[in-house]
Amino acid sequence: MRPKAVLWDLDGTLLDSEKLWTIALYELAEHLGGTMTHEVRVSLYGSSGVTMQRVVFAALGLEPDPEAMATSDKWLKNRIGELFDAGAEARPGAFEALRLVREAGFPTALVTNTQRAQVDRVIHSLPGDWFDVTVCGDEVAHGKPAPDPYLRGAELLGVAATDCLAIEDSPTGVASAEAAGCRVLVIPCDAVVPDSPSRVFRESLVGLELSDLVNAMH
Ligand SMILES: [Mg+2]
Repeated sequence: MRPKAVLWDLDGTLLDSEKLWTIALYELAEHLGGTMTHEVRVSLYGSSGVTMQRVVFAALGLEPDPEAMATSDKWLKNRIGELFDAGAEARPGAFEALRLVREAGFPTALVTNTQRAQVDRVIHSLPGDWFDVTVCGDEVAHGKPAPDPYLRGAELLGVAATDCLAIEDSPTGVASAEAAGCRVLVIPCDAVVPDSPSRVFRESLVGLELSDLVNAMH
């Protein structure tokens, strides 16, 4: 079965922006008077802003004071925005894969936990007209791993999420897409994504073919 639409994750799937999030999160921990660990960092791949603050505060042993977390969230958004302005590298094969999907005529959505303001600052790293619609983290009630972002992307395209193929790199993103009912093509970046019969894995986007998209729907 051919997917009715292709829903793309951004960070770690199309852009190597998780590297920039790593820089920003290590700096944030230092800014808050603590130290980020590799384990905590990896657990945050694909997370929403709210989750990032909750996890960082807990990891650093800080009181989860809403005001302090809001200030910290603002600091992180500002820093990632600066890093995004400088641009992120595309993941290997990203442009070719975007072109393949476009030329095959699939409706496409960008579905990301990153907020609109930050997405607008980094999207210049993927020059081209690749997406019919975009859904950002601050445009849904609950970010990934909740199904909201993928359900919204499918809704905007006028298709059922169960007929869509999501392309994701993180456990958080895969959980969101599966909760929405999408089939998922997993292209792991840095975080390990557990195997499951419903998930189709590929090492990278390099050499992606139409048949890969169709096979991932089975
Ligand atoms: Mg991702």
